[in-house]
Amino acid sequence: MPVLHEQLIPVFDEVIARNPGEAEFHQAVREVLESLSPVVGKHPEYADAEVIRRLCEPERQIIFRVPWTDDAGRVQLNRGFRVEFNSALGPYKGGLRFHPSVYLGIVKFLGFEQIFKNALTGLPIGGGKGGSDFDPKGRSAGEIMRFCQSFMTELYRHLGEYTDVPAGDIGVGQREIGYMFGQYKRITNRYESGVLTGKGLSWGGSQVRTEATGYGTVFFVKEMLAATGDSFEGKKVVVSGSGNVAIYAIEKIHQLGGRVIACSDSSGYVVDEAGIDLDLLKLVKVEQRGRISDYARLRGGGARVVTDGSIWDVPCSVALPCATQNELDEVGARRLVENGCQIVAEGANMPTTPGAIRLLREAGVRFAPGKAANAGGVSTSALEMQQNASRDSWSFDYTEERLAEIMRSIHDRSIETAEEYGAPGDYVAGANIAGFIQVADAMLALGIV
Ligand code: GLU
Repeated sequence: MPVLHEQLIPVFDEVIARNPGEAEFHQAVREVLESLSPVVGKHPEYADAEVIRRLCEPERQIIFRVPWTDDAGRVQLNRGFRVEFNSALGPYKGGLRFHPSVYLGIVKFLGFEQIFKNALTGLPIGGGKGGSDFDPKGRSAGEIMRFCQSFMTELYRHLGEYTDVPAGDIGVGQREIGYMFGQYKRITNRYESGVLTGKGLSWGGSQVRTEATGYGTVFFVKEMLAATGDSFEGKKVVVSGSGNVAIYAIEKIHQLGGRVIACSDSSGYVVDEAGIDLDLLKLVKVEQRGRISDYARLRGGGARVVTDGSIWDVPCSVALPCATQNELDEVGARRLVENGCQIVAEGANMPTTPGAIRLLREAGVRFAPGKAANAGGVSTSALEMQQNASRDSWSFDYTEERLAEIMRSIHDRSIETAEEYGAPGDYVAGANIAGFIQVADAMLALGIV
């Protein structure tokens, strides 16, 4: 493990002591602290005001009971979370995740990442995250609705367009946002569009929000490629996952002339050398909420499904982990390197383990962290908030152009900051430092709060 700056060792020790058993949160904090060594030397004012220590402690953590009734009339019980991490730059902003793996450590890691990601967008949004250990898999639409209503019946009191603005994440899409918005509206008697993002187009949503995380990741990689005079044209790409991020990453890669030859879900991965058929993938995964094996079966011919291997065994020049945290480990990273992969960019949040990042870096693979590469989703959420605040709605093309511009600016800022702090080409250092400085300066200006 790389050593931490001596001033940061007690900060990290305190994070571990205060947050026992929250391995993902420790991992996310460690990665940022490792990047901050050159900043600590240059900016003693941050240490004087304990900015880094304060940043690692959420401003507020909310944990609540979510009871609901299933279709058989049985009472079910889940736990809900909202971690309001930092509001120096704007209202808390970040998604809600519904997945059985959710516990406080996952929500804190996501909320911590969100602070820096949101700062990097250059838009006025703070960082937060929430969710529940509710498992939507196999649940009817009625059960999902009752769960969302119960969840919002507690959460609404903590939200507001100037306070905290959730959106989706794993397990939460437009359907769930709709049920939650409906319940918020009913309880508060306010049509407060700006309280949630990821809404439907006819009730306050923004064009491109659905596509934004996947498109944004691809725009980011396009900039990485352009920096060396290259493009997606003719490139073989592997995209893990087959949810919202993966689907729209695949769509944009195909529009830009690349070919995605593999994607996955929790049951396995599919290899389709002719290029993933996106209409079929959307039918199977979005409309039917089916498995990746259904895609292979319906596609027939060239597509094969693999249930006992790793998607990172599939040779490619660009790899985009777009499924979930820690899905790309050292074994996977080694396979990517052996097969000549040149770029890895995170569409998901923290999908690459620290060991895998080290291995990729040492092998000269260019690596873009999620904080920078997947910031397109939350950026477009901020554009949705702008439209809600001005009671306006923008065209698809205009919104997509704004997104592309934001991704370009995040790319350039990350790479320029890396250069300035003595780590040329290191997107991790650049993104962490640039995001940190933006938040830290605001925290200094706002005093000890
Ligand atoms: N969940 C997304 C993320 O990880 C989007 C959050 C948002 O739009 O607020 O950035």
